[in-house]
Amino acid sequence: MKIIPKTQKDFEWINWSPEDIKKNLEMVFEKTKQDLEKIKSIPKKDRNFLNTIYAYEKAGQLDSGIDSIFAEVLFYVSSNKEQREAGKKYFTEISEKMTDLIYDKDLYRAFKEYNPKKEKLSTAEKELYRDQNDFYKKAGFQLSEEKQKELKNIIKEQISLGSKFSSNLNNFKKQILCTEKDLDGLSSEYVNSLHKDEKTGKYIVDTSYPVYRPFMRFAKSDKKRKELADLNSLKGGKENIKILEKLFELRNKQAKILGYKNYSEFVLSDRMSKSPQNVRIILEESLKKIKPKYLESEKLIDSYKASITGKKGDKTTYYDASYYSELYKKEKYNLDDQKIKEYFELNHVLDQMFNMFGSLFSISFLQNKELKLWHEDLMIYDLVEKNKKIGILILDMFPRDGKYSHMCSWGIMPGYYLDYPKNKNYAMPVSTIIGNFPKGQNGNPSLLSRDEVRTLFHEFGHSCHSLLTRATFESQSGTDTDFDFVETPSQLFENWFNDLGLMKKISKHYKTGESVSEEIVGSIKSLREDFNAEKYHYTMLLGVLDLDYHYGKKIKDLMGYAKKIFKKYGMRDSSPKSLFPASWGHMVGYASSYYAYSISLIYSYDIFSRFEESGLLNKKVGKELRDKVLSKGGSMDEFEYMKDFLGRKPNNKAFLKALGIKK
Ligand SMILES: [Zn+2]
Repeated sequence: MKIIPKTQKDFEWINWSPEDIKKNLEMVFEKTKQDLEKIKSIPKKDRNFLNTIYAYEKAGQLDSGIDSIFAEVLFYVSSNKEQREAGKKYFTEISEKMTDLIYDKDLYRAFKEYNPKKEKLSTAEKELYRDQNDFYKKAGFQLSEEKQKELKNIIKEQISLGSKFSSNLNNFKKQILCTEKDLDGLSSEYVNSLHKDEKTGKYIVDTSYPVYRPFMRFAKSDKKRKELADLNSLKGGKENIKILEKLFELRNKQAKILGYKNYSEFVLSDRMSKSPQNVRIILEESLKKIKPKYLESEKLIDSYKASITGKKGDKTTYYDASYYSELYKKEKYNLDDQKIKEYFELNHVLDQMFNMFGSLFSISFLQNKELKLWHEDLMIYDLVEKNKKIGILILDMFPRDGKYSHMCSWGIMPGYYLDYPKNKNYAMPVSTIIGNFPKGQNGNPSLLSRDEVRTLFHEFGHSCHSLLTRATFESQSGTDTDFDFVETPSQLFENWFNDLGLMKKISKHYKTGESVSEEIVGSIKSLREDFNAEKYHYTMLLGVLDLDYHYGKKIKDLMGYAKKIFKKYGMRDSSPKSLFPASWGHMVGYASSYYAYSISLIYSYDIFSRFEESGLLNKKVGKELRDKVLSKGGSMDEFEYMKDFLGRKPNNKAFLKALGIKK
């Protein structure tokens, strides 16, 4: 196999004008249309995997040798506003037109005419066939015209309810007014960022996340925290509860028409987890075991509050738990984030990260000074294995005007065989990490908080997943896995930074060159022991709640039901006014999928346990991780390859152990 290198020519699109973008997108569209027409025109008797299933996979790919004519990422990182806006606009237009092309009865007929039993298919080929089959099945192509119409209407109604739900959230503009004294405890930076009410001259505090979170953690005023928390609990309003009731009903109806028992079954049927029952077993068992540990964390904060208020048996509530927790942690562990930052200078962290994972996977990351891409700040690296370039990693680390403002990894050019089924030439994968780290100023370097380093490792995990892929087909490349597996490698990579020994090794004070002290390491350790269970408890619990909401039984009182689940697993009471599900934004885009965060986390710990057994930098296990897991992408069942790597079925033992739960 030869990996076809990427050169400056493959990145021509960075200089495209809006007209160029439009022209090229239209060209891809026309090519896709022609390719699909060709598939439809093949006589039934002549159909085979290559001219039907693979042809569909390949539709729209250009023969020019440039396998990916542009990367959408440009529309989020370009410094040129025109390019960003035109790109997003034309891309959305073409995507809509593409959807119309794909939802085609004749194309479905062509697919059905192909008989997979006629040929002996490889695992990846079977998987590709299965993916296309699932797509048609879930879209309802097999249904009568009448049923299809009904389904279409149900989906349309869901889309409109979903957007109403989101706009109710976005339009929630209620706020509280605070005097300077009410803001006691908050940083001057925070106070200065607040707007003032014109009439009263008071500060406006609203429920947007960046304003709400610090207020609940640091504001000294009990009264104001309560006022804000009560207000926040009304977000979305009663109308959103009504919308959710209707949405759950419609989603269930959709699932039933398509032949599934309920919406959760519909969503999970073609995922790694396969069924909501499988997920429930592992989440509920974990929650049950986490609960006592979670209650211990709660008790620590409760007794701390009692020690301050002087009232014996005093307990924290929904509006002061974060506040006392913050105070307690500051007093007990004394972890000063500003000071700790000085040990994590970006360039040093990158060197250490590249060395560690480079050695684990027997590759090197060498700086590429030739490529000139979308900005001079970019740091570009070649992945080199045995003197051969096998991939390109692009780091875009600092904020700019108009740049995407979150941190993410973006696999911009996938790895796959360009000449299937000969399988001699492989497209070189290219991945990028978009970050918004503070750029060093006045001769000082860029310094990262622990959270930022952890996020960097996380995104690097996604990028390595993209770059080390050896999947045959483009749609199975790298991070194109099932939704409930995709966060496993990224969360796995975080563990190398979480390990306190390695964290010490990665750290180096930018002035003194020292690594973090034993004292800091000890504090981080006890903070984790005391509070890690609390950290994962809520996400896991919401995963269960989301599955329940989509399980087909009629739940009369959504908030009441949420309260019941919260209580079952030991959570503090919410505000009596709370309309919680009304403000749960994930209910629109993540329907019956919230569990995925927890499942992939649990599996990431399980995979890591093999390194804990044989050494965190053990090359043999590193090679196995690369060959048996990371290289596979979506080319086979993720559960199966985890089993292959672990030598058994994955379980939650390592996860619970990491939380300090022995049995
Ligand atoms: Zn991620």
